[in-house]
Amino acid sequence: MFHLPYSGRRHVERIANAPALEFEGIVASYPGATTLALRGVSFALPAGVRAALVGPNGSGKSTLLKLVAGLLRPQSGTIRIHGQPVGACHHRVAYLPQRGEVDWRFPVTVERMVLAGRYVHLGWLRQPSRADRQRVHDVLAQLGLAELAPRQISQLSGGQQQRALLARALVQEAELLLLDEPLSAVDAASRAIIAAVLDALCHQGKTALVATHHLDRLDEEYDHIFALEDGAVESRGTGEQVNKRETAIEAMV
Ligand code: ADP
Repeated sequence: MFHLPYSGRRHVERIANAPALEFEGIVASYPGATTLALRGVSFALPAGVRAALVGPNGSGKSTLLKLVAGLLRPQSGTIRIHGQPVGACHHRVAYLPQRGEVDWRFPVTVERMVLAGRYVHLGWLRQPSRADRQRVHDVLAQLGLAELAPRQISQLSGGQQQRALLARALVQEAELLLLDEPLSAVDAASRAIIAAVLDALCHQGKTALVATHHLDRLDEEYDHIFALEDGAVESRGTGEQVNKRETAIEAMV
């Protein structure tokens, strides 16, 4: 359940001035599937931006994030993270899966689940230090989860589960965050907390790529929008540009 993206502990320096993320002609498919999940996706994401990945169900958003997280491999094409190949530095990328992909019945406390995010720095043999526990404590407080730390994860509400997943990604102190539907089934309070955290991350120069169905506040919450459809990027730009283009296309048909 607490699968971490990379199993090695190598650390490779980022290449100065390279985009946070680059896709070049990414083609991906699942075993036994008759259609491609991604049909040649190319785009780049500068460092320090918040980008939304939008598109209907099945358009390839999760697949794209999983490729960057190193959980799937592309059939062809290249992905670079700060100029380096996927897996070159597992510390650099934190992945927040969809809430439904986690087994919330697993008998573990919120604190222990979030601490798992520190293991990319520890390896599996070293015990977490006082500083690791302090980091977990700080992030739980930032996300309004401090009082829930000793609770079993099965006792969390949907919004609390999303915040716990975000906490686990944050304690990793990655430079690139990949968030798969972090706002699905969250209450207004959780949504506001998550938006504030993303804002703070980008002010620290970190980059976030967020797959989302929530289209109502794209302009305010994201610097770049990439719209996927049937495994290809259909439009890109700022929220305002993408909305204008979509409206213009709708008016033409
Ligand atoms: P989205 O996140 O936009 O809903 P996905 O990346 O989950 O899209 O899916 C892209 C395509 O890949 C869809 O056609 C979907 O049916 C297919 N797909 C996704 N996961 C699997 C899987 N585990 N096995 C087979 N096909 C899959």
